[in-house]
Amino acid sequence: MQILTGKEVAEKVYETLQSDCNAFVEKYGFPPTLAVILVGTDPASQSYVQGKKQACLSLGFGHRDYHLDAETSQDELLELIHTLNNDPSVHGILVQMPLPPHLDADLVIQNIKVEKDVDGFHPQNVGNLLIGKPGFISCTPLGVLHILDYYALSCEGKHVVVLGRSNIVGKPMASLLMQKGRDATVTICHSKTEKLEQITKQADILIAAIGKPLFVTESMVKEGCIVIDVGINRVEDPSRKRGYRLVGDVDYEHVAPHCKAITPVPGGVGVMTIAMLMKNTMQAALQLAQKEMQ
Ligand code: NAP
Repeated sequence: MQILTGKEVAEKVYETLQSDCNAFVEKYGFPPTLAVILVGTDPASQSYVQGKKQACLSLGFGHRDYHLDAETSQDELLELIHTLNNDPSVHGILVQMPLPPHLDADLVIQNIKVEKDVDGFHPQNVGNLLIGKPGFISCTPLGVLHILDYYALSCEGKHVVVLGRSNIVGKPMASLLMQKGRDATVTICHSKTEKLEQITKQADILIAAIGKPLFVTESMVKEGCIVIDVGINRVEDPSRKRGYRLVGDVDYEHVAPHCKAITPVPGGVGVMTIAMLMKNTMQAALQLAQKEMQ
């Protein structure tokens, strides 16, 4: 059984990004720059935003932090986004989700300039992904692809079962894998899927993204399958200083012995997401800088 270490893949991505960033700064005289907007004080969101800032700082990317009050109005938020859309020194814009309930997340995403939508959530980027055209791709599914490619695990002709149909993971994951060139046969399952176990047992590659700790058990997987665990769940653990530990959607301990390969949690898909965000920001900066020069 092979452990697919996202950390190792992410390190390679960061190495390449580091030299790309240096070359960019040398050529254009300014760094690729990411603007991150956080509304409110949700502790998990604060820590995600901090992780993104750290990644920018360590690569030499520019970083803009906007921490807005939880009562920020829709108009104020949209005004900030429009300002950043028109700021040529900002190349990527990310609004940390979830937003407080009085804000319309769809409207917010639609207002981010497509060329700066490094999260890949804008409907135009989502549509481009579906029809196989270039655009920004949601970071977590893109990270999964990088892991598969790094370990030379081909999806061609394979039955991939995706557990979960969210807009940020399940749907883009399935769209990516069914494209020409990837050539997987994809089944998407969700909370209303009947006889789930019968379907997951057919998977050559099983991708779990449902947000239910240790949900996928050994009876749900085929001997020799590849398991990608996207889930990141906190479970209480009094033995840990912080009172909890992170587990995936897969019961790793019991499932792993039956797999050809599997991603761990933590240290698997999770670390790839920010690496892909940086990669998308680099791409946005290159495209925008080249456009400016035309
Ligand atoms: P989400 O928006 O809550 O979507 C969960 C999906 O799972 C839904 O489509 C839901 O079905 C489905 N589901 C729930 N219970 C199910 C069940 N018993 N059987 C089959 N399907 C079921 O979650 P998400 O944002 O996609 O995130 C999923 C997991 O990935 C979470 O643990 C999250 O923390 C993690 N995540 C990790 C990263 C990363 O950086 N690695 C990034 C994003 C998310 P319905 O549509 O029918 O409700």
